[in-house]
Amino acid sequence: MELHPLTWLFAAALLASLATRLWLATRQMRHVAAHRGAVPAAFAGRVPLQAHQRAADYTIAKARFGLLTTAFAAAVLLGWTLLGGLDVLNAVVRDAVQPRFGNMAYQLALLASFVLIGALLDLPFEWWSTFRIEQRFGFNRSTGRLFATDLAKSLLVGAALGLPLAALVLWIMGRSGSWWWLWAWGAWTAFNLLILLIYPTWIAPLFNKFEPLRDETLAARVRSLMERCGFAAKGLFVMDGSRRSAHGNAYFTGLGAAKRVVFFDTLLSTLSPGEVEAVLAHELGHFKRRHVLKRMATMFALSLAGLALLGWLASRSWFYSAFGVQPNLAVPNDALALLLFALALPVFGFFVSPLAALLSRRHEFEADAYACAQASGADLASALIKLHQDNASTLTPDPLYVRFYYSHPPAGERLAALRTQPA
Ligand SMILES: [Zn+2]
Repeated sequence: MELHPLTWLFAAALLASLATRLWLATRQMRHVAAHRGAVPAAFAGRVPLQAHQRAADYTIAKARFGLLTTAFAAAVLLGWTLLGGLDVLNAVVRDAVQPRFGNMAYQLALLASFVLIGALLDLPFEWWSTFRIEQRFGFNRSTGRLFATDLAKSLLVGAALGLPLAALVLWIMGRSGSWWWLWAWGAWTAFNLLILLIYPTWIAPLFNKFEPLRDETLAARVRSLMERCGFAAKGLFVMDGSRRSAHGNAYFTGLGAAKRVVFFDTLLSTLSPGEVEAVLAHELGHFKRRHVLKRMATMFALSLAGLALLGWLASRSWFYSAFGVQPNLAVPNDALALLLFALALPVFGFFVSPLAALLSRRHEFEADAYACAQASGADLASALIKLHQDNASTLTPDPLYVRFYYSHPPAGERLAALRTQPA
């Protein structure tokens, strides 16, 4: 049997990315273990040895589990594609659904069954991560019942939003000729903006409780910071993050004037008001330095390029057969094309992830600098140390692992950069 060059390229990229991921994970485990014995000099006196070692153990436990999930994900991907899993699923769903319910129902059923099988395969790993790893280090606050309702809700919300979008895109693909990808991109972009708009008021409250920030002193401080920065937001909210996890966070959500500031209750219970202000000033920095806008523009540009590429690939029969699927002869191939594209693209995308991580880390430094100008740099530094300690993030990651995966610079680098800021 003659294999298409794309098959070789895909297999080589999959193998190379798998080998790189496993190699990076073992590097990270070894590096963290080697530095477990002593708190790095820059943190001496500020981080107890016990906390440092807990962070090391947590990081290693997660990386070890990551080896397993990485290998499993690669096996599943291989199973779907070159080993013929998607081909079998397609034939079964097509023959069962298409004759009775038509092309659209067949294509939606194919997408839905693919997503459901994927969720089912991931389930044991998610369960293990929550109830074994997070539990062992004292982070998990979720229960079996909450885990199950979360899962059911995610599936329902996913279906309620995903199925209409999929139907619209499939309809566009079937109707608008060789320029379908441009229209599909318009629909995709509008959908994403709509989600941003409705997420804070419609979706997030399905999973968490949001209450207005009651601490008036802190609220006054936060409002004066936002005024200083010329930033409008619709409200300050506290989210019951502690329902599921002890990890803390603060974020902005929503679009335009409907933006909200959300604090995890876990963040407010560990940080002083000054530190909360500094963390928020950092988040404001991402808006003021236009990181949020740039990130969105990049995402939309990349999805346009991706859809244009798919527009070209979808009409070629070798695109299907190269990934182990026989294209349908009598019915549309659009759902198949979308699935194959979504399966194959991340394998190649892995190799540009260091670039994305680099840009993201650069943005973090810029946001830190902004925070120093608008709030206290000393407060930001102590908040960073507290958050690292609370999240058991390692202070001594492997430098190469950082280059590939870290969207935030390691604490040591961030503190060093903060010290160079004018007070
Ligand atoms: Zn940031």
